[in-house]
Amino acid sequence: MKPSSRNVRQMVLTLDEKPGFFYQEIDETEVSPEKIKEAKKVLDYCRRLLSLPEIKIIWCIKINRDSYEAPGIFGPVVRTLKRVHKDDGPFSGQTRFMGENENTIWLRSDISLDEVGPTVAHECLHIHEFGPLGLYRPPVTKQEREAAETRAESFALIVKKALSE
Ligand SMILES: [Zn+2]
Repeated sequence: MKPSSRNVRQMVLTLDEKPGFFYQEIDETEVSPEKIKEAKKVLDYCRRLLSLPEIKIIWCIKINRDSYEAPGIFGPVVRTLKRVHKDDGPFSGQTRFMGENENTIWLRSDISLDEVGPTVAHECLHIHEFGPLGLYRPPVTKQEREAAETRAESFALIVKKALSE
């Protein structure tokens, strides 16, 4: 899911100027209890609604390139996230569909409390559609990716409405 305040300026930067987007996983103890509670509430709701398997939430923060490249600090998952996002911009939530990280949602800890629930719901729909037991193969074309994003956004709104009633 893209943060609403996506900076469009990055699109006009040349490759060399491109800042890149780097993330570090953090421990739950570094995240506000309200955000953890909200994430778990929405995750439980979505898992029941969509009959999803166990889903792991990993919190992360955006870091700068220097911190990222400092040796020995960050693990392979962060470098995986870098590969996914270097041309793709920032994210508020991110899901993996394959390998050891399947059914994992990475959540930015610096998004607002209001964004936490919709981000979790959005990523849950991606898992429902494209996860190991999902309905479809992961999107390939731009059109398929956009359609998947639209469906995930709609689902996030439905969940938000349902949980606020
Ligand atoms: Zn998405």
